[in-house]
Amino acid sequence: MTDLDTITHYINGAKADTTSGRYADVYNPAIGEPCARVALGTPEEVNAAVAAAAAAFPSWAATPALTRARVLFKYLQLCQEHTDEFAAMLTREHGKTFDDAKGEVARGIEMVEFAVGIPQMMKGEFTDQIARGIDAWSMRQPLGVVAGITPFNFPVMVPMWMFPVAIACGNTFVLKPSERDPSPSLLHARLLEQAGLPKGVFNVVQGDKVTVDALLDHREVQAISFVGSTPIAEYIYARGTASGKRVQALGGAKNHMVVMPDADMQMAVDALMGAAFGSAGERCMAISVVVAVGDAGDKLADALAKRTAALKIGDGMASDSEMGPVVTSAAKQRIEKLIGEGVEQGATLLVDGRGIKVPGRENGFFVGGTLFDHVTDDMTIYKEEIFGPVLCMMRAPDVATAVELINANEYGNGVAIFTRDGGTAREFVRQIQVGMVGVNVPLPVPMAFNSFGGWKRSLFGDHHAYGPEGVRFYTRHKAVMQRWPNTASAGAEFSFPQMK
Ligand code: NAD
Repeated sequence: MTDLDTITHYINGAKADTTSGRYADVYNPAIGEPCARVALGTPEEVNAAVAAAAAAFPSWAATPALTRARVLFKYLQLCQEHTDEFAAMLTREHGKTFDDAKGEVARGIEMVEFAVGIPQMMKGEFTDQIARGIDAWSMRQPLGVVAGITPFNFPVMVPMWMFPVAIACGNTFVLKPSERDPSPSLLHARLLEQAGLPKGVFNVVQGDKVTVDALLDHREVQAISFVGSTPIAEYIYARGTASGKRVQALGGAKNHMVVMPDADMQMAVDALMGAAFGSAGERCMAISVVVAVGDAGDKLADALAKRTAALKIGDGMASDSEMGPVVTSAAKQRIEKLIGEGVEQGATLLVDGRGIKVPGRENGFFVGGTLFDHVTDDMTIYKEEIFGPVLCMMRAPDVATAVELINANEYGNGVAIFTRDGGTAREFVRQIQVGMVGVNVPLPVPMAFNSFGGWKRSLFGDHHAYGPEGVRFYTRHKAVMQRWPNTASAGAEFSFPQMK
C-alpha cells in the first residue's frame, strides 16, 4: 500500500480503476521523490478503451464537422482558463520552469485554434460533368479509432499535436501518455468532458511497453501517432505497419546551429543559451551542437562559457530559475556519464555541470549547464542524443564543411544558421537535409497551421504532425463518381467508356 495518489485511466467518459496491479512511481524531479504513482495498463484495459472508442465512432463521425469543432472551441476556452493548472502539473512531474511550462500550454492551445477551423479543410473538390451526365468529387473521411503514444518532454503539448486534429476530423482517440508525467492527460480528459465531448471519443490508457504493444497489435486501431526516441519510433513504425496501420513515428534529434563569422554574435549567443539550455535541453528541437565557422568559434567560446557558468538552476517553481532538473535520476546519471566520455575522448570541457547541488533541493535531479569545445564527429557526445543541458561546439573552416557534417548526421529534425549574408543562408536552406530550418531563428518549430516533422531517422512514416499533414494523416481520401438515370438512357455499355 502507498499514500501516493494513483493516476489511472480514463475510459468511456469516466476514470477507470486499474486491475493490473502494476504501477510506476511518478517523481517530482526537483525534489527527487515520488509525488504519485501511475497505473500501467494491461491489454484488457487497452481493449476496453478501444472498444469504447469504436462504439463512439459511428455517431461522432456522423456529427457535422462544425458541431465537432464547437466542442473543441469550448475545450479551447477551458484550456486557456486552466493554463496555470496544466503548467503546475508540468513543473511538478517534468521539472521545467513554470514560465516555460506556460509556454508549452500556449503552444498546445494553438493546436486547438487550428483544429476548430478543420471543417474548412474537410472540403473536397468537385468537377461538374466529367462525362455526359456524370459528376465527380472527392471527400475526406475519418479513419476510425486512432491512438497516440507520447514522450515525457511535452506532456501537455505533444498529445495536443494529435487528438484535437484527429477528433476534429471525426475520429475517436486513445492516448497512451508518458508514464513519467501522466497527470496532464487526465486534465485534458476532464476539460474535454466539460466541453461536451461525447463519451468514448477521447480515452486515456496509462502504461508502458505492454500497453503500447497491445495498441500496436489491436485490429480495431486504424492509425498510430508516436513521438519519442528514435529506436522506439522505428519499432513502433515497423510493428504498427506490420499490422496494417497507418503510422507516423517522430523520433529523436541532434540539432545543429551554424554560426557564420559575419553573424550578430550577441544575437547568436542569446539564441544558443535558450535553445541549448531551455527545459534543461530536453526538447527534440533543442540545439545540442553549435558549428562555429572560421573565427566565429573564438568569439563564441568565451561568451558562451561565461553565460553557461552563470545559468540559474533551481526548482522550476522558483521565479528566478532559468533551468530546472532533468526528468529522472537515471537521466541525470546517463548525462553525467556522457559528459565523462566527452572528456575521455578528448573534447575540451569549458563548463562542467556535473555534481551540482541546489540548496534546499539536494536530492533533485539537477545537471548544470555544460559546454564542450573542439568536439569531433567521432565522439560519443556528438553521435548520441544526450537530451540534457550539454552544448557541444565544433569548428568548421567553411559553410560547405558544416553542411557536409550536418547532412551526414543520422538525424534531421531541426537546424539553424546565423549569418547576415542572404546568399549563404539561401544556399544553406536549399542544401541542408533537415526537416525544419531556421535562419537566425534557433528553434524553427512550425506553427499549428504548418506541419512539424524531421527527415532521416527523426521521422518514420509519410506524414508530418499537425497542420495540413495532420488532417491528411487522420483522414482517407475518397473519389466519387455519380450519374443519375434520366429519361434518355443510352442503355447498357459493354466496352470501356470513352469520351463522346
Ligand atoms: P521514449 O521513446 O522513451 O518514450 C516515448 C513513449 O514510448 C512513451 O509513451 C513510452 O511509454 C513508450 N515506450 C518507451 N519504451 C517503449 C518500448 N520499448 N516499447 C514500446 N513503447 C515504449 O521517449 P521519451 O524519453 O519519453 O522522450 C524523449 C525522446 O523523444 C527524445 O529522443 C526526443 O528527441 C524525442 N522527441 C521527439 C520529438 C519530435 O517531434 N521528433 C518531440 C518530442 C520528443
